[in-house]
Amino acid sequence: MKKTFVLTIDVEIDAGRKWKTSNPASYEGVHQGISILQDLCRNYGIRPVYLISPAVLVDSSSVEFLRSLDPSSCELGTHLHGEYIGPHATYPGPDFSGCDPQEMQCQYDKDIEYQKLKNLTDTFTTLFGYAPSSFRAGRFGARGWTIHCLEQLGYTHDSSVTPYRNWHGIADFSKPGSLTPYHPSTENICVKGASSLVEVPVSITPELEWLRPTPKFSTLDQCRKVIDWYETHVHPTVLCCMFHNVELVPGKNPYCHTAEDCRQMLHRIEGLFQVVQQRGYQSHMLKEVMVVDPSSIQTTQGHACKRS
Ligand SMILES: [Zn+2]
Repeated sequence: MKKTFVLTIDVEIDAGRKWKTSNPASYEGVHQGISILQDLCRNYGIRPVYLISPAVLVDSSSVEFLRSLDPSSCELGTHLHGEYIGPHATYPGPDFSGCDPQEMQCQYDKDIEYQKLKNLTDTFTTLFGYAPSSFRAGRFGARGWTIHCLEQLGYTHDSSVTPYRNWHGIADFSKPGSLTPYHPSTENICVKGASSLVEVPVSITPELEWLRPTPKFSTLDQCRKVIDWYETHVHPTVLCCMFHNVELVPGKNPYCHTAEDCRQMLHRIEGLFQVVQQRGYQSHMLKEVMVVDPSSIQTTQGHACKRS
């Protein structure tokens, strides 16, 4: 199996410095952010995965824009921020101006988590005309039960595991069972088990360096170090990079405040694309990632990261 690069984007409503949503609610991160990224990805043969929050699915112009994307150029999936969708929505919407998303789905009662995931999935299916395959939990707040729910709802892939990170003792991934894609346990999302779902962990090293070209997270050099570490320690090497659509629009996210910040962020993203291209990675959507026994060698269909 060739080395694999997966680009995953959490698609959010515009937000301020601490993820509090814009007021009035706006969606420039969808229209501008994704347009800019699609252009760059096209030049490098990268096919990103857009994991969409319920706070975006209420906005008809955002949905229209996402529906207009060529399905061969990207994958659309879901991303649960549970305060925006029932049952028991903290923010009933559809106007999500000035909301403060803090919830993690692993803290809900099991049936509530299932129902929120079902509502999100049904909403996506109604709006886009097909069922989603791929998912990421908001604030990475997933657990074994989440995997069980996703399986029941027809998903094939999850990317909620952030190896080595412990999120406030609520979602604890500090003892990852696998850094390469695996079938997780529905008892413990961190370890291998009997689920049919494929877990694709975000690429993070034991030193907590992320493959995340965001200011405050990783410079291009640090991204390169993460890639070096994964190539040395993880076989088959599957890199999973993540950031948010809103990071590409000044002042609509906690990290990039000015046009210059966004320009630098885009420059880092392009640098990362060049590294994976030079090293012979293939770009895969999440739904295409397979679990491969490290002892076997297989080839898969993917798109070579091409030269622009
Ligand atoms: Zn999110």
